[in-house]
Amino acid sequence: MALQINGERLWASLMEMAKIGGTDKGGCNRQALTDKDKAGRELFISWCKDIGCTLRVDQMGNLFLRKAGTNNALPPVITGSHLDTQPTGGKFDGVYGVLAGLEVLRTLHENAVETLHPLEVVVWTNEEGARFSPAMIGSGVWCGEFSLDYGLSRTDKAGISIGDELARHGYLGDAPCAPFQIKAAIELHIEQGPILEAVEKPIGVVKGVQGMRWYDLVLTGQPVHAGPTPMDQRQDPMKAVSQIISALFALADDTGPLARATFGDINASPGSRNTVPETVTLTVDLRHPDQHTLDDMDAEFRRIASTISRACGVEHTIVDEWNSPAVAFDEHCINAVRASAQQAELDYEEMFSGAGHDSVYVSKVAPTSMIFIPCEKGISHNEAENATPEDITSGCQVLLGTMVKLANA
Ligand SMILES: [Zn+2]
Repeated sequence: MALQINGERLWASLMEMAKIGGTDKGGCNRQALTDKDKAGRELFISWCKDIGCTLRVDQMGNLFLRKAGTNNALPPVITGSHLDTQPTGGKFDGVYGVLAGLEVLRTLHENAVETLHPLEVVVWTNEEGARFSPAMIGSGVWCGEFSLDYGLSRTDKAGISIGDELARHGYLGDAPCAPFQIKAAIELHIEQGPILEAVEKPIGVVKGVQGMRWYDLVLTGQPVHAGPTPMDQRQDPMKAVSQIISALFALADDTGPLARATFGDINASPGSRNTVPETVTLTVDLRHPDQHTLDDMDAEFRRIASTISRACGVEHTIVDEWNSPAVAFDEHCINAVRASAQQAELDYEEMFSGAGHDSVYVSKVAPTSMIFIPCEKGISHNEAENATPEDITSGCQVLLGTMVKLANA
């Protein structure tokens, strides 16, 4: 019989970790590098040391807990996520990926199973970005996206830096915060969206992360009186923006079910009910998991804005606010997750992540993929965040199968 993880032990560990920073509403407030985060880290490290793991701490306070393989010259298979939470966070976001990694190591340890490659569970520092901005700074510095000085000098609202807090807690490690050779990296996480619950499948085989583009569209016309001015003699930015929004909704529909177009904020100036506005500013958020398709959507947006603005006699400017390219995960890692779900006889959905994760940065330097499980009503970053013990167990079983497969290949 294949190795089985212990779902009750994993659930008990999640509930014990959730007491550290536990809130009245059943959530968790364990923000990055607070005393509570330190307590959570220490509990996790003690559990790992109980089964003979060794600890390495890097210069950003990222923790690597290692279970030796039969050939320790080989690069490790790593898993993990984050232990920090939002101020009104839940019990599962991030924590599940870390403690499921521990459960995989516990299962191998108690069955005296050794893998060819060593295994590591990683805890990335300040994933949430709630206390220190930007989010995912630990994995971001590690992969080379940000410099170490930049990472250590980020401050919270009180002016306390990440470097100060790492020093105070004894987590200013001496391992270089830089990529090392990795066989494969697998992150297990709650979905934080409604798809798996809707299709009633316990496992998401995550093939990549949506690309995202944020813009401000500024349309400038001529402010005139709402009464005397005939419709055909206006340069009305509101007319243009209404047509642009319709055209972009149609573009998203035509592009297919994976495309997203969102207009979350709109502002008319001077903002008087009986004056045609002089300017209208619209936020535009376009997303797609395929970078080529997202590039096409970007080009089409620019063409639509230009054509409609000209037809309406208004000026337009597009300000690029943010550009996060789509991530395609590693085919070999995705295949290993899929095969492991099949082996465990668990139904799965192939999908893309709509949220950012440490794996976005890890995937820049190592073969990476992710596993999702459903969370209740798709709710996350909320004290009501919930997942069933059955799904928690299933996801961890798939993680075990995936890691063992990759670490013995
Ligand atoms: Zn997370």
